[in-house]
Amino acid sequence: MEKRELLYEGKAKKVFKTNDPDLLIVDYKDDATAWNGEKKGTIPGKGAVNNRMTNYIFRILEEKGIPTHYVQELSDRETVVKKVKILPLEVIVRNAAAGSFSKRLAVEEGLELLNPTVEFCYKDDRLGDPLIDASYMPALGIASQTEMNKMVEYALTINEILMPFLEEKKLRLVDFKLEFGRYMDQIILADEISPDTCRLWDTETNDKMDKDRFRQDLGEVEEAYIEVARRLGL
Ligand code: ADP
Ligand code: UDP
Repeated sequence: MEKRELLYEGKAKKVFKTNDPDLLIVDYKDDATAWNGEKKGTIPGKGAVNNRMTNYIFRILEEKGIPTHYVQELSDRETVVKKVKILPLEVIVRNAAAGSFSKRLAVEEGLELLNPTVEFCYKDDRLGDPLIDASYMPALGIASQTEMNKMVEYALTINEILMPFLEEKKLRLVDFKLEFGRYMDQIILADEISPDTCRLWDTETNDKMDKDRFRQDLGEVEEAYIEVARRLGL
């Protein structure tokens, strides 16, 4: 596999072309941003943790029948993935109240929800990734009704797989964000699943073990990422 020119540099990853037009290489950075890029920083070692954790989880999900973009881990930070057409959506699953949900509805952080929820945000930095009603997606031609149904089905199945898996590692999966893409007329899971994109709380102490430590200046950010990797055996 040959790494070719930089296709895109995002806030947390670089994406490179390869000699195969259907494949890309993602390269995870230690850079961190929050509040739509307003807060910037570095979390040493984060890129490697996020790369290895994402790949580990994507391999488990593949085994359980969820199609993903994962192809091959090349190094601590680099992974070969299938090139997809990313849908400009953040698919957010919640098991407990936190973050924007708690704020919007004045619900105490940590309150267990009676059922998992799935919501969609429209990925647009200029607009600050606004929450959108499900009916907007087919209406705006962002995703078809069939694609939407598939994303909700996958999101809930992923939650069913990850919740008990992380619980065993003493991590409570409070909420997480997924991105999907189109690949040969199929919807497949893309991007990452990591402490950048999940809220993970220690099951005993309720300590935050994710990017909220960075967002909220809680300290020991680097240590939290390393500890998550350690608990996963990575
Ligand atoms: P952002 O763009 O939000 O700053 P990143 O720094 O994580 O995010 O950049 C990675 C970019 O690559 C994201 O825009 C993501 O949607 C995109 N991406 C993730 N997986 C794939 C894939 N398999 N094919 C094409 N693009 C992808
Ligand atoms: N999330 C993410 N990227 C985003 C926004 C949210 O990965 O651009 C994740 C976030 O880490 C959390 C979940 O999605 O695990 C729900 O986030 P929320 O809607 O509460 O937004 P926030 O509080 O981060 O603004």
